[in-house]
Amino acid sequence: MIPQPFIDELIDRTDIVEVVGARVALKKAGARYKGLCPFHDEKTPSFTVSPDKGFYHCFGCQAGGNAIGFLMEHDNMSFPEAVDDLAAMLGIEVPTQRGDTDRGETQRLHDVLGEADRIYRRALRNHPAAIDYLKARGLDGETAKRFAIGYAPDAWDTLVGAPGRSESRTRLLVKAGLAIENDAGRCYDRFRGRVMFPIRDRLGKVIGFGGRVLDAGEPKYMNSPETPVFHKGRTLYGVYEARQRPGRHDEIVIVEGYLDVVSLAQHGIEPVVATLGTATSSEHARQLTQRYKRVVFCFDGDRAGRAAAWQALETALPYAGGEVELVFLLLPEGEDPDSLVRSQGADVFRDLLSNATPLSDFFIAGLREQVDVGSADGRSKIVALARPLLERVKARVYRELLTAELARVVGLPAERLGGLLDNPPQRPSRPQQPLHRKSTLMRKTITLALHYPSVAGSVDGIDGFDDVHLPGASLLRRILEVAREQPEVTPGHLIERFREDEEGRHLNRLLAETPLDDENAAPDVLRDSLLRLVREQRRKDAVKALRKRTLSGPVDEISEG
Ligand SMILES: [Zn+2]
Repeated sequence: MIPQPFIDELIDRTDIVEVVGARVALKKAGARYKGLCPFHDEKTPSFTVSPDKGFYHCFGCQAGGNAIGFLMEHDNMSFPEAVDDLAAMLGIEVPTQRGDTDRGETQRLHDVLGEADRIYRRALRNHPAAIDYLKARGLDGETAKRFAIGYAPDAWDTLVGAPGRSESRTRLLVKAGLAIENDAGRCYDRFRGRVMFPIRDRLGKVIGFGGRVLDAGEPKYMNSPETPVFHKGRTLYGVYEARQRPGRHDEIVIVEGYLDVVSLAQHGIEPVVATLGTATSSEHARQLTQRYKRVVFCFDGDRAGRAAAWQALETALPYAGGEVELVFLLLPEGEDPDSLVRSQGADVFRDLLSNATPLSDFFIAGLREQVDVGSADGRSKIVALARPLLERVKARVYRELLTAELARVVGLPAERLGGLLDNPPQRPSRPQQPLHRKSTLMRKTITLALHYPSVAGSVDGIDGFDDVHLPGASLLRRILEVAREQPEVTPGHLIERFREDEEGRHLNRLLAETPLDDENAAPDVLRDSLLRLVREQRRKDAVKALRKRTLSGPVDEISEG
């Protein structure tokens, strides 16, 4: 644990131009510096560094953050490594924090998750049936230990009733997704009678669990729900274990189940990670392509697996090309990675991996499957299907190669097809606008609070604001909370507070935006915005209530303005 005040100071004292400039050629342009973005392929600079804000931002790919974030992204450093690095540049020593002062909720959640992890691992030793199950799956003790596999006994209160229980601890168990509260207000363990796979973040902290039943019970697999510290769209099972492997690895395999990960790892096929019962997210693709040169997406050969593979392709397209090779491996029908590596052995599996289908082939084959390319209609449809996908490819050369491949399929000269694709009727002026502009008012309000935290901290609470559930409301509430508690907090500090946060990722982008109002106007504008958000929520609630009462009818036509 590194004390927050130290991190704040580190951000304040670090010259971000020096940090970024050592890795990217920068030119001064007004108050900012500009350069070619190191995170995406570009010919004209859209990457900027703002020394006064201690912040970098790319208008092309939306990468952004402070000096710590830059080192983590660019040099693949862990958070403590990046902090060490900056501290070394400044010639100061990183203090360590012990004891229980200022332990936020995140820390307390990590604590109960860590405690659960220890309880589950201890329980595994005392439950021969669970050990037998793992043995029957072919797992050895060493692998089980490496992945910290445990067991949740078939009881309602293994965690809830553990020594040291208290009301507040039970609340934390619920919040950490480890316990469930029933309608009567009683709490009981979520995971019962399951082999437990702790899901760890890249620093090794337990953030959630996956559990598999021993017998034929349902559901077969169960994951922790989303919690303040566990976000499935950002997390991959096995990341920590993959990083613990010594040596440099250029290739990584991504599979669908934690048993697949553990089994492949035991057979020496590493690094390997898995999604957590969700589709491959853009964030997953970003993380993997940043660190590895070849990413193998490995899916079961059934229909669900094929659909998941195509979804992964669509998601990964923006990261294809350049130095990164993306390939797809669909296993034979009825096989998963675990069953295949156990029946065929590691060498066969490695062969399959090295002969996996390149993204370009998979892309064309997938499109061909959806239409009849023998007909003119089919060929025209394939172009329509391909257009939005090709637009997602950021690496220009790669996009041209894919276009050329497609041209061969539809029987058009590549330039002609390229021309057709490049001139769609309405082309967005900017390549990407990833943040949904659902509530521009919310967006403006967060931007304002982020830029002027001292103002945000001084604005009084607004009646009814706690009931606002519009997208972004909880993020805004937490920013206001931090700003109230720490009047001296700066935008750079705030970014750091929300680093591990799903919603907080948007802050980087919002910080790159210029608020419409200056600091003098900010208090009034902020107060007014909060009031308007409350009104917006009430209007929504009213419409919803109305909709319920009328059962059917053109409620959508009721003006919300
Ligand atoms: Zn970029």
